[in-house]
Amino acid sequence: MNYIENKFFSIKKLIPKNIEILAVSKSQDISYIERLYKIGHRDFGENYVQEMIEKYKKLPKDIRWHMIGRIQSNKLKYIIPFIHLIHSVQNMKQIEIINKIALKYNRIVHCLLQIKIGNEESKSGITSQESYKILESENYKIMKNVKIIGIMGMASFQEETEINNEFVYLCKLYRKLKNKYGHYILSMGMSRDYHIAIKYGSTIIRLGTSIFGDRIKL
Ligand SMILES: *Cc1c(COP(=O)(O)O)cnc(C)c1O
Repeated sequence: MNYIENKFFSIKKLIPKNIEILAVSKSQDISYIERLYKIGHRDFGENYVQEMIEKYKKLPKDIRWHMIGRIQSNKLKYIIPFIHLIHSVQNMKQIEIINKIALKYNRIVHCLLQIKIGNEESKSGITSQESYKILESENYKIMKNVKIIGIMGMASFQEETEINNEFVYLCKLYRKLKNKYGHYILSMGMSRDYHIAIKYGSTIIRLGTSIFGDRIKL
């Protein structure tokens, strides 16, 4: 047993059983993914299409790939055939493109809306109002090949009380969407704050460095 496997198991042991771990393998070597795969883990997250595709080609096909980075619309066509979940959808245009490509491949692609929390202009994501607007739009309702099943968010502050406030905000929105639309995924929490995210009802935590160690430049 070594570092990565130990880290993974020690985190898994400490969190409730119903919470999924997404192993964020961006900028990590393929051999690291293989090691977690060998011990039965299947969910991996990447933030660049190109990198995901290279890894997808070389690795077993029952891996569930999650896109967590900014959507590059012109490259969506490369991942739609196999993607398991897109966490970072931010507008109607992207949803339309995903739907259109997914139709070609006869798939229903599951997506999360990335919600902006905190007030920083630079933060990516959409507001809760914008998310309702999308979910209520006729345009979305008639789409058959894309399905929004929840939301994703990233805390913007390092400070614990701020992180708490932001996760409470996401949790409240998630509960409303769950009641109204049957959403069932709240993708919330990273290495630095997953212990807080779990307190506020996260269903998927996205862990990179806490499992794999520091990211290397590939
Ligand atoms: C990189 C990344 C993570 C993982 O970050 P760590 O701090 O390494 O756990 C989680 N979510 C998103 C959206 C990321 O880009």
